[in-house]
Parts: sequence; C-alpha cells; structure tokens
Amino acid sequence: MSTATETGTENSLERLAPEALKTARRLSGTILLNGKLTGASTDKMIDVIHPGNLQSIGQVPQCGATDVNAAVEAADTALTSWRRVPARERGRMLQKAADAIEAEAELVAQVLALDTGNALRTQARPETASSYDLLRMFGGLAGELKGETVPNMSPDVLHYSTRDPIGVIAGIIPWNAPLFLFMAKIAPAITAGNTIVIKSAEQAPICVLFLAEIINRFLPPGVLNVISGYGEECGKPLCEHPTVRKVTFTGSLPVGQAIAAYAAPKLATVTLELGGKNPSIVMPDADLDLAIPGIIDGMRYTRQGQACTAGSRVFVHKDIYDEVVKGVVARLGDIKLGNPLDEATDMGAIISSEQFDRTKKYMDIARNTPGMRVLFGGEEPTDPYLRGGNFYPPTLLDGLNLDNKVCQDEIFGPVATVLPFGSFDEMIEQANDTPFGLSANLWTRDLSRALEYVERIEAGFVQVNQCAAPRSNVSYGGIKMSGLGKEYALDSMLHHFTSSKTVLINRGTPAPGV
Ligand code: ADP
Repeated sequence: MSTATETGTENSLERLAPEALKTARRLSGTILLNGKLTGASTDKMIDVIHPGNLQSIGQVPQCGATDVNAAVEAADTALTSWRRVPARERGRMLQKAADAIEAEAELVAQVLALDTGNALRTQARPETASSYDLLRMFGGLAGELKGETVPNMSPDVLHYSTRDPIGVIAGIIPWNAPLFLFMAKIAPAITAGNTIVIKSAEQAPICVLFLAEIINRFLPPGVLNVISGYGEECGKPLCEHPTVRKVTFTGSLPVGQAIAAYAAPKLATVTLELGGKNPSIVMPDADLDLAIPGIIDGMRYTRQGQACTAGSRVFVHKDIYDEVVKGVVARLGDIKLGNPLDEATDMGAIISSEQFDRTKKYMDIARNTPGMRVLFGGEEPTDPYLRGGNFYPPTLLDGLNLDNKVCQDEIFGPVATVLPFGSFDEMIEQANDTPFGLSANLWTRDLSRALEYVERIEAGFVQVNQCAAPRSNVSYGGIKMSGLGKEYALDSMLHHFTSSKTVLINRGTPAPGV
C-alpha cells in the first residue's frame, strides 16, 4: 500500500473541492419540507464531519417529533393529488430529475465524498452514476404498475386486481452508500404514486439533501421530504407515526428489529436491508486471475469495507492457499490510501471516529488471539495527513477460528480474514455458520460444484466467478437475519411499494328498454 505524503494546503478541501464545500455550507441547517429547503423547528444542530480531516463541513437540524409531524403532514397532503397523476407522467418527472442529476454529477459526487470520506474516483462518482441510473430505471418502469385480470368465475363477472400506492412511506437510510440507498427508497416509492419522508443518516446527510433538492425541482411540493436527526429522537417517531403505512430501511440488525417492532402495532409493512458476514470462496480449480482481484473487490476495500456485501470471510482451499494469499497481499500493496477528494486516491477514510474505533477494537481482539497472523495492513498509517483523519489500511488476517468474534461479527471496516478449507461440505457448513444470509461469492471452473453451491449457500445475493456490487435491475436482498424483501428492481416496486384491491364486478342484466 502506498500512502499520501502530501500535507498542508495541497490536501485542503478549499483547493480540491471549493464548489462542493460551498454547496455543503449553502445547504447547512436545512431540511426539505413541502417542496422547500427550510429551517427546522429546532435550533439543535448536528455537526457534519469530513472523515478525511475531521473538520466540520456544515450542520443539519437535529429534528424530533415536531418536524416529523410537519413532514408527514406535507407528504399526506401531497398524496391526494400525486396518486392520481398518471403513472407514466410520474415516471417522466423522475426521468427528468435523473437527467438533471447527471448534468450536475461531478458536484454531487464531490459533496458525497465530502460527507462520507469515500474516495471520489473509485466510489463517489460510481455511486452518483448508479443513483441517477436507478432513478431513470424506475421512472421508465412506471407503465409496469399493472394489475391482473383473472379468468371468469361466471360469464357476468369481471374479476381483476389493481396496483395502488400504499400511502405515506418512511425511509430510513444509513451513511455508507447514502445516495444510492436514498434512491433505492424514493425512486420506486414515488414512481408507484406514494409520497415519502426520508430520514438521512446523521453522519452523511448533506449529499442526500443536495440530491433531494435537485429531484424536488421536478416534483409537486410534499411528494419528497427529507429530515435529519438521530435514530431514537427522529427515526422512531417517524416510523411510529399513524399516517405512515410503510417503512423502508437499510442499516444494522438491531435497528432493523426495532423498526419492525415500531411498525407492528399498526400493521405497517417493512422492507429491511440489514447486515452480512459474507463468504468469498476460492475452489482449488478456480481461475486465480479472476479470484485474486475478486477477493479484493468483494471485500469492498476501496469503500473501507463499509459495505453490507463485503466478503469478509475468505475461504480458500488449502491446495492453493499460499498462492492465493501471496497474490492478494501483492495487490493490496497497490491500493492508495489518501485524501478522498484526490484523483489519485483509491481508498478514503472511515466514516466516523465511532466506526474507526470499532475497527481498532476488532483488531485488538485479533491481536489477542494466539496464532493470528497479520498478512497485510493492521497498523494505523504514520503519514501526517492520514493521521489527521479516520484512515486505516486494507487489512488481511489469518489464523483465526470461525467462532472468533472477528469472523462472526460484521465489522464494517477494512478487515477480512482468510480461512483454509479441505472439504467442500465442511466449507459450506462453515460459510453458512452465521445468523446472516446476505451475499456470497465463489470462484470455480466446475459448473457442477457452482450449482451445488448455489443450492446450498444461505444467502440472498449469490455470485459465481465475480463479486459485483448491487445495482439497478438486479434484485437484491438478504435471507435469515439479513433482511426482509428485495430492492433495486421491478419486483421491489411491485411487491414493496404498492397495495392492491381485488375487484369483482357483476355486470348484471341490462336495464330494461336500454
Ligand atoms: P449504522 O450502525 O450503520 O450507523 P444504524 O442501523 O445504527 O446503522 O443506522 C442506520 C439508520 O437508522 C440511521 O439513519 C440511524 O439514524 C437510524 N436509526 C438508528 N436507530 C434508530 C431507531 N431506534 N429508530 C429509527 N431509526 C434509527
């Protein structure tokens, strides 16, 4: 791994991203309520910290129940007419919004990198592009919001179903891919004729506000509302609000469970995208030219490992173990840790000091385990600029047993463990030995083995000989404790953002004399 050596003004955000900083300051202190960027009812603010230098880039209101009520009321008022706008017209508005985001994509990506500490070139730009792609896709699918006709039970009875909006929806999003996950909530919800209130994550709220501001230009007031605040104080009253008929959430398992409980008394439905402790598996016959870079991509190191799909348990067959480890370690050395806004940077900073400490805590657990080897990384950088932010290198360990907390818990940092295996059966059992069931990757040339793995692996998003990140038109969601429901494709809009009526119409006999 090479590190940034620059310090001082060369790394200053004023030099690297002046417009993005100006945008963050302009949006500071606002929420999107009923079509307008406005202040909230509270004076309390949350400081938004750039993870690369730990300096404030702005503030957002620390909303509570009063702002929740105002946002839900705005969404509820807008619902009456929004649901009656023809579906394809709604879709066209969103597609125009997608074009507008594309036109401002560079600035959006820079604000995203400021907010999250994710590297501009490797992460923030691709995430921005995936976001408007998702919006465009859902806008184009508006014509698919169709019901069904059912064969007659009697020649006089027309039997069909409708697809209707659910109503006011609450979306709660995390900080790790804030724009893409914001879009995954709002695009299908709004296309389907619902209105929505989003609560952004307290760590990365400004980029969400910026995107919402652009989209809002193309929508009637109140269709899209964005508030900011903490989970208990703002997220909970939003989920519990009696007018909110559905909650769509991405985040941690305990919060997902809490949200399901908030929604239960009013029988509101939930979509939950939660954590993972995903296996990346290399069979002895694998094409290592695919598998070695695949392990690195799959671990999402260039997103600091802060991805639900991170393949943090790397199972490698013992016959090729040394060769694979050597190959991965050699490539980890090429990853450049540095200022997220710098074009040369591959890997940026961990979102917050809380998450940074979490990574270090798991490294302490690993270090206190006899037999553990650090194959790469494992030490905080010494470069003065990197010392001033939440930078931690890509880290690869081995010598840990599967029951070690490092191999069981979702660290959400750049730490992966390699585990050797001998038999396929034993490996599958180990790969499934987690409460989670989100994603899995396997590399092999053996089609029969690949199909057996697909059948036996307990995961909702399963790949062979690749480890692509979730994207539009790829239906994505976990099983077991990784979630409830799917996102990113047509089925998610139809199944999670619409309700339906079953209709039976008996045409009776024509009126006499007509
Ligand atoms: P992470 O650990 O990645 O921050 P969380 O699940 O804690 O993930 O947070 C994801 C989102 O859920 C954030 O927007 C956060 O504010 C929100 N949140 C946290 N706790 C609650 C809660 N009790 N009710 C509703 N939302 C919550």
